[in-house]
Amino acid sequence: MPRVRSLVERISFDRALRAHDCQASAKHRVSKGELRLKVRNGRSWDHYCLACAQQILRKDVAYLQMMLDVAAVPGQVLFAEEIPADGVQALPAPPDA
Ligand SMILES: [Zn+2]
Repeated sequence: MPRVRSLVERISFDRALRAHDCQASAKHRVSKGELRLKVRNGRSWDHYCLACAQQILRKDVAYLQMMLDVAAVPGQVLFAEEIPADGVQALPAPPDA
């Protein structure tokens, strides 16, 4: 296995070759020629309309930002399962508080 250099090689944009439903909701239609998000799913791809793509990307960007924060400041406790029983009070105050 090659070393991991990127976590986002499994996503891309392309244009729909024919009209189809968004894979997040059958109520969303992707028209022929329309830009869509493609996400690797095993040996095939899932395709999402741009509204769903924005939701997916926003959530993952937030998650990646949190992961980056942990990597940059490993002493901080950011994961819920690592927060002690006495809770958030145990966390250091933000620097500008
Ligand atoms: Zn959609």
